[in-house]
Amino acid sequence: MIYLDNNATTKVDERVLDAMLPFLKEDYANPSSMYDFAKKPAAAIKEARVKVRDLLGASNEKDIYFTSCGSESANTAIKGVLNCNREKKHIITTKVEHPCVLNTYKELEKNGYEVDYISVNSQGELDIEEFKQKLRKDTALVSIMYANNETGVIYPVEEIGEYIKSKSPETRFFVDAVQAAGKIPINVKDTNIDLLGISGHKFHAPKGVGVLYVKPDVRFTPLINGGHQERGLRAGTENVPYIVGIGKAAELAKDALDYELKEVKRLRDKLEEGILKNVFNARLNSSINKRVPNTSNIGFEYVEGELILLHLSDIGVCASSGSACTSGSLEPSHVLRAMGVPFTALHGSIRFSLSRFTKESDIDFVIENMPKIMDKLTSISPFQDELMELRKRKGL
Ligand code: PLP
Repeated sequence: MIYLDNNATTKVDERVLDAMLPFLKEDYANPSSMYDFAKKPAAAIKEARVKVRDLLGASNEKDIYFTSCGSESANTAIKGVLNCNREKKHIITTKVEHPCVLNTYKELEKNGYEVDYISVNSQGELDIEEFKQKLRKDTALVSIMYANNETGVIYPVEEIGEYIKSKSPETRFFVDAVQAAGKIPINVKDTNIDLLGISGHKFHAPKGVGVLYVKPDVRFTPLINGGHQERGLRAGTENVPYIVGIGKAAELAKDALDYELKEVKRLRDKLEEGILKNVFNARLNSSINKRVPNTSNIGFEYVEGELILLHLSDIGVCASSGSACTSGSLEPSHVLRAMGVPFTALHGSIRFSLSRFTKESDIDFVIENMPKIMDKLTSISPFQDELMELRKRKGL
């Protein structure tokens, strides 16, 4: 099996699992309890908080709140900040956010909020001028993702943070960094990012644990009310094994950053070059350098993404398509549509996402097999005239 869908989820690192196991077995105490038996889990949470602090470049581990996932972190950040500032009803975000952000804003729009969705260009880059024009004194919240889950494009969140600070310092700034953590350096301390969310299962911790970083002077209300856990801002008995897991994964991710930036990127670039060279109907949906090192989104013209995925799956390769199949109709990706990816490639776009566990032989295998799959699929495509034209244009 060749797993190239690491933006969907990642394999749990063995070392993460080893760190977690004692807290699923013998050290199961509730960390809030008074007896000595609870001291080890309580200390383990503290240690995990420090490791996550270091991955995010935060100055204080007290600014790290454990949650259940990236979606919870985003919901807490958005709703929690708005609850503390009810007079302001204006929000800015982008057209290409993850559904956990976009659908939260759709709900808020129904409740009287005005939301501006900033456009991206054909490479997936944000229209910064449009953002600057939309920012107002009564903007309660700006939320911009750090890196896009479908294209890997990195957004200039530090520059955006500085702009917010200079023009509207009361406006809060949330960054969904789920696809950035462990792939590129993050340093919240030196930025004007107020809140930032990440998710453990995207960097080799298990599913079901996330983090919300919040700057010390930023007020927010909890999404989950209850006990005093997480300083009263996220109730529920701490999920000690998973918190330990995300802490260990954060430590390993920090150590592996250099490898991600060089080696994972080299393999990603090799995959892109190999496919573009050997497959006549392939086009890169974003080719810019400002992308996380593991992600590639390739459009295959005049073929269906689902068919490509099934053929890849038949030879043991896991990737994903931008389309979501909802109630029998094929809905093309909102990200690729916002980029204006031509109709001819929109339905045949595939995301390959690598990790530090991807091997050179995995990439060689895909490069070798993609032309064979595409020969088969183009031969049954209903767009034979268009494909002939494309071949001619490419001098084939
Ligand atoms: N934000 C982005 C950019 C994502 O890619 C994802 C998951 O794919 C999420 C948020 C949601 O994370 P989780 O699955 O932990 O809720």
